[in-house]
Amino acid sequence: MGRDDLKSKAESGGFVEYGEEQLPKIDSMRRDKSQPDFYGVPILHDADVMYCTASEIGNKPASCYTCQIQQSDLTCGLLGPDIKVAKVTGSQDSGDPIEYWPCCDEHDYGNPATGKPSYRPNLSTPDQVGLIWINASEVGQPFGGANCGGGNGGDDCDHYIVKGAVEKWDTPEGVCRVLQHTVENGAVCTAWRDDDELDWQDAQQLMKGDSVDKIKKAKMVKEILQ
Ligand code: SF4
Ligand code: SF4
Repeated sequence: MGRDDLKSKAESGGFVEYGEEQLPKIDSMRRDKSQPDFYGVPILHDADVMYCTASEIGNKPASCYTCQIQQSDLTCGLLGPDIKVAKVTGSQDSGDPIEYWPCCDEHDYGNPATGKPSYRPNLSTPDQVGLIWINASEVGQPFGGANCGGGNGGDDCDHYIVKGAVEKWDTPEGVCRVLQHTVENGAVCTAWRDDDELDWQDAQQLMKGDSVDKIKKAKMVKEILQ
């Protein structure tokens, strides 16, 4: 629309107040801005992925063992009595043991429940809450699980990046590729990812005695066939 076509009145200072005749233009701008690729891929904010600082999770990695929803018999108050959310030690083909700690997106920092286990009436499924098992750097360490940089005994997130040729777990902070800002080494969020995590079905197989390498090979074949 050209200047000569403007029928709207100019406010004092020369700013044109839009009138009815500009509505099609404004609507087209609104439509364009609502397209997902207008500003590139949307950047997630802290609340979108339930970002927690290191102190908010007791300076320990996130796992069922620091979650107040874990029940006294190592089940989960959200998942019911049939799924054990217990750490498990598997054996690799080399014979070396490897330990895995469970965690999910609903992790709620605190001491696990004591007393008789109880469950919520509307139970979730392991897939709904993103239940996974996370390997620890050592067997028998006091706490394992997820955090950004792998400090405090945690397993580092693939999205945590640092400058220079240093080990991630020795850095106090790094940059998160998801949140696009600096994060503490000991923080965590629900976008945590590691190429070595086990899904919950794998963990159940591990508890039944399958070797870690057998499970990983079966998983690779499954992914190729998908
Ligand atoms: S599965 Fe999730 S909600 Fe349940 S005990 Fe573990 S971390 Fe907590
Ligand atoms: S580095 Fe990973 S765990 Fe940490 S905030 Fe980013 S996505 Fe979440």
